[in-house]
Amino acid sequence: MVNGTMMQYFHWYYPAEENLWNTIAERAPKLAEAGINALWFPPAYKGKEGTNSVGYDAYDIYDLGEFDQKGTVRTRFGTREEYEKAIEACHASGIQVYADIVLNHKAGADETERITVRRVNPDNRQEFISEPFEIDAYTKFTFPGRNGKYSEFIWDHMCFSGIDYAADLQEEGIFSIQNEYGDDWEEMIDDELGNYDYLMFDDIEFRNTAVREELNSWGKWYFETFKIDGVRLDAVKHISPKFYNEWLDYQRQHKPDLVAIGEYWAPGDLPMLLRYIDATEGRMSLFDAALHHNFHYASTQGNDHDMRTIFDNSLVQVKPELAVTVVDNHDTQPLQALEAPVEAWFKPIAYALILLRESGYPCIFYPDVYGAHYVDKGRDGNDHEIFLEQCKHIAELLNARNTYAYGPQRDYFDHANCIGWVREGDDDHEGCAVLLSNGDEGHKSMEIGKRYAGRVFTDMLKEREEEVTIDENGWGEFYTPAGGVSVWVEKKQ
Ligand code: CA
Repeated sequence: MVNGTMMQYFHWYYPAEENLWNTIAERAPKLAEAGINALWFPPAYKGKEGTNSVGYDAYDIYDLGEFDQKGTVRTRFGTREEYEKAIEACHASGIQVYADIVLNHKAGADETERITVRRVNPDNRQEFISEPFEIDAYTKFTFPGRNGKYSEFIWDHMCFSGIDYAADLQEEGIFSIQNEYGDDWEEMIDDELGNYDYLMFDDIEFRNTAVREELNSWGKWYFETFKIDGVRLDAVKHISPKFYNEWLDYQRQHKPDLVAIGEYWAPGDLPMLLRYIDATEGRMSLFDAALHHNFHYASTQGNDHDMRTIFDNSLVQVKPELAVTVVDNHDTQPLQALEAPVEAWFKPIAYALILLRESGYPCIFYPDVYGAHYVDKGRDGNDHEIFLEQCKHIAELLNARNTYAYGPQRDYFDHANCIGWVREGDDDHEGCAVLLSNGDEGHKSMEIGKRYAGRVFTDMLKEREEEVTIDENGWGEFYTPAGGVSVWVEKKQ
């Protein structure tokens, strides 16, 4: 049994001209060799902006780069055939494929309809700020380029609970659609902004049975056609948990082992993550947004942060079996909506904390392996040029996870700036000792186990030069660099 590691194989600014599907097909064997067992692909369907869409502005979820819609056959990431080849290449290398599922909203409707709405206070969506009135709204999706292939379902205003634009008035805002499924929003588990059902574009109305049936049959078609192994569920915070409970139960009738990971983005809010887990009764794992928040915060605090508290109020600490641990993602990267990056100096520490411990299912972010360079507008309205560095030691940390991070774990979280742990190893693997510091260089005595008595350990990251000999009781004095991490393994002759 090898430790599993997934990788988010894209970022917000992945260039369209590089064709991600072909890149994945090419690199799959190498990724498998490096210890990646699952890739999270970006949304594969046609977005409202064609090849400029990352895919979160989903237009036609049956168009995976196959039909001439939104000015292009291919999506930002390639054609449907290239997508299929990328998936085949992953499977041939023993890598699972997780699809990004965007079902909170649709964007780029084909036609307007005359519909009845009420204006909504954007700061408190429970509050209507107008009486019902009529507008022309882009709520009709006919998908003329696909012409009924795979599904003849036409989306109209009965399929949506809210929109962001009154076309005849040229007015932006949040408009609640008054239809037979209710004149208000669907129930959420949280009362942020009164009710955060509405996020953007045309918000899907899950109270409509026909919509739920269409999304059930779409999922079945998608997973059977493309042999998808798992799903990353976008924006679940804005979708009634009842919907995904029903949808996942339906999909698992056909694919019982479908992996599901929800994106409930609630930085630092563990109680909310737990409430969502209760509402979905453990049907899906969640990204550990609480731990990410700790990493982000610690990385901005230098040596002022007490590292003994780094896992406090994190999902991986209280619900490790449902925690997918991350250091960054496409929303937290600089210039993006939920921007809260983990600073570069802290990243090797953060990755050691998710890759080398026994709890959690770690997810590596594309730019941390390959770097990234892009330009976009910031909140100040100006262009910013961003260079994301590759995370130092990322390949060695991944190697350490696959080779040494096994067996019982013993923690030494006993100093505000310097913490460590050991993995004893198991019948098939040698263990390791990890020591890190967010302040000065340091050392610590830790027990790695009597089986190592008399053996010599060195730092596989080569941050430290020392040779550490394990004493007859299985203890060693291990070292860490300042503001970094060392991973101690038996010295190879
Ligand atoms: Ca919604």
